[in-house]
Amino acid sequence: MKQNSEPSFRDSVNMMFSRAVKLMDLPPGLEEKIRVCNATYTVRFGVRLRGQIQTFTGYRAVHSEHMEPVKGGIRYASSVNQDEVEALAALMTFKCALVETPFGGSKGGLCIDPREWDEHELEQITRRFAYELAKRDLIHPSQNVPAPDMGTGEREMAWIADQYARMNTTDINSRACVTGKPINAGGIQGRTEATGRGVEYALQEFFRHPEDIAKAGMSGDLDGKRVIVQGLGNVGYHAAKFLSEDDGSKVTGVIERDGAIVNEEGIDVEELRHWIATHGGVANYPEGTFVEDGSLVLEHECDILIPAALEGVIHLGNAANIKAPLIIEAANGPVTAGADEILRKKGTVIIPDLYANAGGVTVSYFEWVKNLSHIRFGRMEKRQEEAQHLLLVSELERLSADKELGWELSKNFKDKFLRGAGELELVRSGLDDTMRTAYQAMREVWHDRDQVEDLRIAGYLVSIDRIASSYRAKGL
Ligand code: GLU
Repeated sequence: MKQNSEPSFRDSVNMMFSRAVKLMDLPPGLEEKIRVCNATYTVRFGVRLRGQIQTFTGYRAVHSEHMEPVKGGIRYASSVNQDEVEALAALMTFKCALVETPFGGSKGGLCIDPREWDEHELEQITRRFAYELAKRDLIHPSQNVPAPDMGTGEREMAWIADQYARMNTTDINSRACVTGKPINAGGIQGRTEATGRGVEYALQEFFRHPEDIAKAGMSGDLDGKRVIVQGLGNVGYHAAKFLSEDDGSKVTGVIERDGAIVNEEGIDVEELRHWIATHGGVANYPEGTFVEDGSLVLEHECDILIPAALEGVIHLGNAANIKAPLIIEAANGPVTAGADEILRKKGTVIIPDLYANAGGVTVSYFEWVKNLSHIRFGRMEKRQEEAQHLLLVSELERLSADKELGWELSKNFKDKFLRGAGELELVRSGLDDTMRTAYQAMREVWHDRDQVEDLRIAGYLVSIDRIASSYRAKGL
């Protein structure tokens, strides 16, 4: 259980922020300006459902408007509260600055258990919530652009986009009012898996740096590494799937709502996901051992621990027992400030949330740009690129026909090389580059500055420095 003596999520983020600003030399007052959440709007609205008016409570917090629009998901969960959305909005500010997406930070939430409502009811509720936010410019292509988060996905984003378009019939950029939409409603290829893919790219980048691997007391690369993932939702599922399918890692534990499955031989992520979809949980899954108190599996031996569910799951009560030498925070705020200190002292390396799960907002940025430019990425250049490649291949074929040179083109080369990049390839390339660049910026600070003990503070330093520069540029 989480300890009572722990600070709230918002305070936990503030403590991490303060640890970083102590190492900076910000002009007087700027620290406070960056730290505070600018505004939080609370709305209570009624929807007539099941023969009566049901009242819902929703929030949209705007943490920092040093860049606009502000950006961040909308979460649907019964536990949503003001402290949480404000903490999440603050993390969005730091995340966007770290991965250089030109946004301020925001976050929204609706107190609702989406599993309790039918699809048509959820649509009515979502449209009404979207209406309340849009009429105050808290959904707006140039002011505030929501996205999916826990409990929401493409479907909800499509309803929000449509609701906004109905309210703004002459706005040619209306589709850019929200990201994470389905392709047919103005979405972009690769957005659904973006956060999970970003986690994979982050780990790939980490394992490119022997010095960093050594800090975690590890060696080698991702191949054969034992991974435990908490939460097989959109983020955890994709991260675990890509790591096991593309990088040779072995998923040895999956923690879900109703318990956990462990199997040292490796779990087939796709199969387990299917089992959860049909049986409502992981219990009775035949290919592994069921552990009823799933949270205990966070403490199992493994190489990489991926908390990809809720905040505060690694806390004062269990931090000392965590055995993984490397934790990557796919969720927002999974490690409390207190737990962070314990882990740091133990030498655990944590790849922090503001970087690790930034793949989602990165691809959201690409989607927003696509919506504003009204053209799919790659549409103009794909065939031209292919034509250029064809020229080269023909020349190589001509040369390899010359027996004296003794050349031969390897199998599949032609097919692979000829293909020009379409939207998905470009999104992946942009995401990969973003994750590499941001990691390098963080690690430079981590290694070069004496007082910087960990990647989290390095991430905050890079990010706060950029935010401070943009305030300075505004003359504040
Ligand atoms: N909800 C996601 C996050 O926490 C995505 C935000 C976005 O795409 O704007 O980063």
